Amino acid sequence: MFAFLLAVALLAQVNPIELKQKAVSHKINSAKANKVRAKPKAKPNSPKKPAPAVAKPTLSLDALLNKALNESESEPEPLRIVVDAGHGGADSGAVGRSGLKEKDITLAVAKEVKQVVKKRLPKAKIFLTREDDKTLSLASRADFANHMKADLFISIHVNSSENRKAQGVETYYLNISHDRYALRLAARENAMTETETSHLEYILADLAMKSSVTDSVRLGRMVQNALCGNLMRKYRGVKDLGLKHAMFYVLMGAKMPAVLVETSFISNRMEEKRLKQHQYQRALAEGIVNGIQLYSEQHMAMR
Ligand SMILES: [Zn+2]
Repeated sequence: MFAFLLAVALLAQVNPIELKQKAVSHKINSAKANKVRAKPKAKPNSPKKPAPAVAKPTLSLDALLNKALNESESEPEPLRIVVDAGHGGADSGAVGRSGLKEKDITLAVAKEVKQVVKKRLPKAKIFLTREDDKTLSLASRADFANHMKADLFISIHVNSSENRKAQGVETYYLNISHDRYALRLAARENAMTETETSHLEYILADLAMKSSVTDSVRLGRMVQNALCGNLMRKYRGVKDLGLKHAMFYVLMGAKMPAVLVETSFISNRMEEKRLKQHQYQRALAEGIVNGIQLYSEQHMAMR
């Protein structure tokens, strides 16, 4: 009996450390073993197959070139476009002397853009932020484009100025601007005061981080050039006011290349008359789609 107790005491003195060490090493070993075991188990469930690190040496140069060619010719993802008809519902936007409302023109042009896209780019997917006369917040328009995973976002507007002689077409991308004219226009479109609009620049401090800025400039340039080109072929006295930047709230939340088109001036007698005409609305839409098409051809080529 004594011998047994001695043995227990001896074991109790010596073994705790040994036992602890054993337990720890067991934990490590079993963790290692689990890791080793976990890998092959996870493999069959993993959705992505690991890419082969090196091309098989059995493929000849010709075969490799053919393979690369076939891969580059595979069907690209269809282009997804969101077109925003500015204003709507309770918000009429600018109103012309004849009572013509900006919200009605933007909707008409957006619908034309949809028709032209369906005809000209049948594979593309196009969605309008509104199809009827409803009130939409500015933030919800960009949110919609994000939700639809749009490749590009185009907001359509009609310009207005106290100077009745002001006329022409201009396209905007989002950026900080201290230009008085751009600030006044953005304030009107944002339904904010100029001071409130100028405060947006604090929110835009990280704009340089947005990779879509360069693409927005590219998209804006193509839309502006194509739109003016198309109008000039059909109408006299069309003024190309160029690509500009301003702090348009509607473009702020968009995660894709986004531009805002000021199609013409509702405050100008001649342009107001034109804006009412279906033919002019169609010409605006065709010009915008020409720009989209040019951009998508380049964009797809870069993908
Ligand atoms: Zn507007």
